[in-house]
Amino acid sequence: MSRSALGIFIFIDAFGWKVLHKHRPDFLGDLLPTRMPLGTVLGYSATCVPTILTGKRPREHGHMSFFRYDPECSPFARYRWMRLLPKVVAERGRVRRMLSRFVKQSLGYTGYFQLYNVPFGDLPLFDYTEKMDLFAAGGINGGCPTIFDALREQGIPFHVSDWRRDEPDNLGALETAVREGTIRFAFLYLAALDGVLHAHGTDSPRVTDKMNWYESQIRHIIEVASGVYEPVHVHLFSDHGMTDTVDTCDLMARIKALGLDFGTDYAAVYDSTMARFWFLSERARDRILGALQKEPRGRILSDEELGEFGCDFEDRRYGELFFLMKPGVLINPSFMGITPLSGMHGFDPLDIDSVASYLTNAPSAVAPKRLDDLYAIMASEVGLTVVDPTAINPTATHATGDRR
Ligand SMILES: [Zn+2]
Repeated sequence: MSRSALGIFIFIDAFGWKVLHKHRPDFLGDLLPTRMPLGTVLGYSATCVPTILTGKRPREHGHMSFFRYDPECSPFARYRWMRLLPKVVAERGRVRRMLSRFVKQSLGYTGYFQLYNVPFGDLPLFDYTEKMDLFAAGGINGGCPTIFDALREQGIPFHVSDWRRDEPDNLGALETAVREGTIRFAFLYLAALDGVLHAHGTDSPRVTDKMNWYESQIRHIIEVASGVYEPVHVHLFSDHGMTDTVDTCDLMARIKALGLDFGTDYAAVYDSTMARFWFLSERARDRILGALQKEPRGRILSDEELGEFGCDFEDRRYGELFFLMKPGVLINPSFMGITPLSGMHGFDPLDIDSVASYLTNAPSAVAPKRLDDLYAIMASEVGLTVVDPTAINPTATHATGDRR
């Protein structure tokens, strides 16, 4: 009896093109000989993962960053009491993680949820955008289908990791599924390298150790799969790279010093590499623009750039103005934390340190250029047809700098 085919998609968070070449240019070179840089998107995992899973740009799938100004839709009014917590308690990481778990549970969210360092008093001004588990059925805001929605609809048997579990658990679960021999598609989620790079930077020997471990684990999975399936197509990729921190910028203090009222004059979300502003009064727009123009370590993104990045949301729901820091310059403190990390991602997607990687033993006729191209590869492994996104979403055609 002839054996059936299996497509294995391996996601390694922050496995950047530069990281790969710095530590292990020969990583799985014998098994996955076709390797190329893969363009990323503006933002963090909250933008990258939905882009990979849907093959759509952020403006189409609707995800970009966890927090956005929207007092009318904010679910956080009922947690107003948290602003009364003394600063020394509220700033403790353990306390914030505990409160995050409590808020997540009481709101019934199934997605990844963290309050990070968002000031508790300002929380009722913001909505949280990843309420649902992106990997579960209908997990994308606005209902855009993911590859898993498509597989479910077509009745194609597949295995997907549980992002809540650790890497050894997920590797074990994949091996079990592969040995059973009934799936046709597998998606392995490996996220721990990202943490190593954030904590230790891109030069640390711990990064090499982690890659060596991944190599042996993945080699084993491919060996097991090759005993059950024929052919076994493996596609290994990341969502972004990692940039070493070279400087920090206290942008929050700078804006605070302008004497404007947060929530009346303006609102802002300070991510770790960019700040996003909403202007509620004219004096706020002028003063904030003036302050930002005096900061040479970052730049205001033009509408054209936001269009190129696929982040030109018509309703500007993620901000009226984006201020992106230069690669390596962290906004600190930010809504994401008060201690600068050794490495960060979410800078200019075109910067070499931001670029992701793609490695395979089954190259497609058209090589993927960017994260949103992975969907077509996933779909073709199981014979699903992909509708050209520009055909169903007319706004997609005005992406002037689209690099496809
Ligand atoms: Zn990260």
